[in-house]
Amino acid sequence: IDFVANYSEEARQELVQHVKSHMSEKRFKHVLGVEKAAMQLAKDNGVSVEKASIAALTHDYAKERSQADFFAVIDSEGLDPDLKEWSNAIWHGVVGAYLVERELGINDTDILHAIIVHTTGAAEMTPLDKVIYVADYIEPGRDFPGVNKARALAKENLDAAVAYETKQTLAFLIEKEARIYPKTIETYNRWVAQKQ
Ligand code: GDP
Ligand code: FE
Ligand code: FE
Ligand code: FE
Repeated sequence: IDFVANYSEEARQELVQHVKSHMSEKRFKHVLGVEKAAMQLAKDNGVSVEKASIAALTHDYAKERSQADFFAVIDSEGLDPDLKEWSNAIWHGVVGAYLVERELGINDTDILHAIIVHTTGAAEMTPLDKVIYVADYIEPGRDFPGVNKARALAKENLDAAVAYETKQTLAFLIEKEARIYPKTIETYNRWVAQKQ
């Protein structure tokens, strides 16, 4: 089924069942929460609600896949071999989008791009990219310091929510002394840092 051209409650249900079969109950609940948040943000920001639904339902599709699965995609798609130096946190979006395309038959480039950038953001983000990036952070099941501030910003201004999320995530990663993926820094420089 072409979910984008033929979006319907039946098509959505089929996608939901397929996604559900690939992940834990907990992660599946998160995915439904992201869908809910993303559809609202899409509505508020003049973005396709159908595309927001599909992108949200599939954004973490590959999160429970093995390193071997990701390496096979990196090789077969000719992706940057440096990706192999990273981890599931980066692969599940950047590489996982190709699994969404192959296994779920979703080939809408707007949706696939939103999946690719959902973890790190990007300097260039479409409105749909921003909707998924922010919805992932503020979905109703999330509970961490600052989440209510993020929710309030998202209601007011999507770009402000992108900036807040990017700053908080980078601060959190630095506190843990985690390796920062270069694209995360590009996102920070574009959406948070002041030009001087
Ligand atoms: P989730 O898949 O719903 O849990 O959320 P995300 O896809 O947004 O994030 C997955 C994980 O990647 C989170 O723990 C983030 O903190 C982490 N993450 C985001 N950016 C980076 C980065 O640049 N480097 C590293 N090491 N981890 C990151
Ligand atoms: Fe994710
Ligand atoms: Fe996220
Ligand atoms: Fe997620």
